[in-house]
Amino acid sequence: MKKLSIVVPCYNEESNIAPFYEAVKSHVDGLPLRYELVFVDDGSSDNTLAALRQLSDKVAEVRYLSFSRNFGKESAMLAGLQYAEGDAVLIMDGDLQHPPRLIPDMWQHFEEGYDQVIARRNRNGEQVRRKWLTKLYYRLMNNFVDVPLVDGAGDFRLLSRRAVDSLLQMTEYNRFSKGLFSWIGFKEKMIEYDNEMRNEGTSKWSFNSLLNYGIDGVISFNNRPLRLAIYAGIFITVSGFLYIIFNLFNALIHGVETPGYFTTISAVVLLGGIQLLTLGIIGEYIGRIYYETKKRPHYLVQEKDRE
Ligand code: UDP
Ligand code: MG
Repeated sequence: MKKLSIVVPCYNEESNIAPFYEAVKSHVDGLPLRYELVFVDDGSSDNTLAALRQLSDKVAEVRYLSFSRNFGKESAMLAGLQYAEGDAVLIMDGDLQHPPRLIPDMWQHFEEGYDQVIARRNRNGEQVRRKWLTKLYYRLMNNFVDVPLVDGAGDFRLLSRRAVDSLLQMTEYNRFSKGLFSWIGFKEKMIEYDNEMRNEGTSKWSFNSLLNYGIDGVISFNNRPLRLAIYAGIFITVSGFLYIIFNLFNALIHGVETPGYFTTISAVVLLGGIQLLTLGIIGEYIGRIYYETKKRPHYLVQEKDRE
């Protein structure tokens, strides 16, 4: 019988662990498969770890890892994927926003031969402002990024063993999973579900972190911003050159007029701004190279179940 691993990144989810397990169990029991749950405690400051210890003592299918501090969801997912042993791996949030009732369906599609079964959430019942921002974000992103990104298709997905192994071959330090999932390709199946509200606790996303996530997404997936900088440079050089020729002839024909404060200050301000912006873009890439060359581990484990 094939084995399903369910990877669950958890950051301060103490009150969700037990309900999550019960919900998953009720939908997985009865399916023709073996399964394991791999919880990754991402350095929670509440009693998530204690809850995990307790659960894994009682239930043989439950395994866990605990990080030495908060490393972020990307690292937690990576650790879960590395630790999971199943023929298929399902990644789910621990707050029950990813409904376990979809598991039988997703497994079914995996059995049909799909390597990625993606559960895509629609945005029914979400705040208008958030909806609008996400729409804008995806429109912008898809102009910038080389791999297609779909709104609502996030980390909630089932991956075949070969898809997981492909993901694990990408060892970059700055991980942008949405892009990585899309990058590996393979046969995909998309199913839809209604947005669910969080069970307990609070979301860890603020507007700022979403904005930073957006910038990360663009920068970590291609060099198009650098291209833009080159285009801007070409445009400014050509117009500058034309302007000089124009002024030269103007001076030859009409003589030199001294007042030129407006044009001078405009050029200084505009060019200063563009140069700083470009430097910032280059700096972002260099910063990333810097982090990549350090080859630091993505996370540190302080405790595992089988020790
Ligand atoms: N999470 C994590 N590390 C973090 C932040 C979040 O492992 O630093 C987990 C969190 O416990 C949850 C999932 O990632 O299981 C999604 O987080 P959250 O619900 O805060 O995000 P949202 O659903 O609002 O996108
Ligand atoms: Mg959530």
